[in-house]
Amino acid sequence: MADDRVFLHCDVDKMYFSVEALESPQLASDTRAVIVSVDPREYPRAVVTTANGVARDIGINSGMSSALAARTAREHGVEVLFVRPRHELYGKYSRRLMDLLRTETDLLEQRSIDEAALDWRHHGFLLEPVLQLRARILEEIGLSVSFGVASTLLVAKIASELAKGREDHACVVEPGQAAAFLAPLSVRALIGVGPKSEARLRAFEVLTIGDLAARPLAWLVEQFGSAYGRYLFAASRGEDDSTLVGERVYKSISAEHTFARDTSDRGEIWRRLQSQAVDVAGRLRAENLLAGEVAIKLRYGVTWVTITRQLRLAAATDDAETLAAGAAALVRKAWTRQPIRLIGLRASKLEPSRQSDAVQLSFPR
Ligand SMILES: [Mg+2]
Repeated sequence: MADDRVFLHCDVDKMYFSVEALESPQLASDTRAVIVSVDPREYPRAVVTTANGVARDIGINSGMSSALAARTAREHGVEVLFVRPRHELYGKYSRRLMDLLRTETDLLEQRSIDEAALDWRHHGFLLEPVLQLRARILEEIGLSVSFGVASTLLVAKIASELAKGREDHACVVEPGQAAAFLAPLSVRALIGVGPKSEARLRAFEVLTIGDLAARPLAWLVEQFGSAYGRYLFAASRGEDDSTLVGERVYKSISAEHTFARDTSDRGEIWRRLQSQAVDVAGRLRAENLLAGEVAIKLRYGVTWVTITRQLRLAAATDDAETLAAGAAALVRKAWTRQPIRLIGLRASKLEPSRQSDAVQLSFPR
């Protein structure tokens, strides 16, 4: 079953600076080195949280001491603007982002203020849904997010890191391609390999993850001990069994489909809803859950406008026909007849089914 896992790792680009630039749009085009940090003249131990492109072009990076950043800018003859961090504000944006992401998955794990990993099985390894999500976040919140998709959390995170340098900010690593994807990257790209390990590996001429993957397990264990050696052996191959934790309780179960071509064909849309209802009902039963509400999501092709509608069911159910009928009623009411790009069906207001009761009674549904 491990092979059908798909994870999406999301990471906001330059979170603090981006939020500041959203709040004060003139910052986006400021020609100074804009650094989100307390001014080091006020607090000498201040550290750069994020910086704009002007600053990064002269070698100012996150984590650098702000005093050093100021000196670097002076040496380059670049003026500096320190913007005092507003953590409460970043928290507000973070919550908006996580709320939006939760509407796109049944299972999400927030990993930091600007990072989250999502169960992405419903979309598989397609690029299009990722680009749609990116566009939606840009439009609704204004933040630029980079995305990695892979069948392990480890590789999805590394892919999102690589995506930052790409024009579309997305990097999809197909199943079976993880080792080949990792091979050319520096060992530092592996989570858990810091400057010390990098230096030790370099001494053995192990520079890339591919070099690392070529070393036998016994050698790695001998050099780095059992736990870390084993980790390096597995990670260099993209192997990682960790799963999402945190929000294990299902708040909803959904299915989504992106049409290969935008469609206004009622028959096609109805068939899709039916198969989604069968899928969702099956997963409800597998989790011993009943849904009290059914919702639809429609995204139009040309405008990319997304609408959602929900309906309270007369009784909680795990029955595919009931879900499909509810969803169809919602589509009939909401659909403007514009060609549809994406359709989704979601079951929510979940409650445990009475499946475990000693006496099973047959209720009419
Ligand atoms: Mg980030």
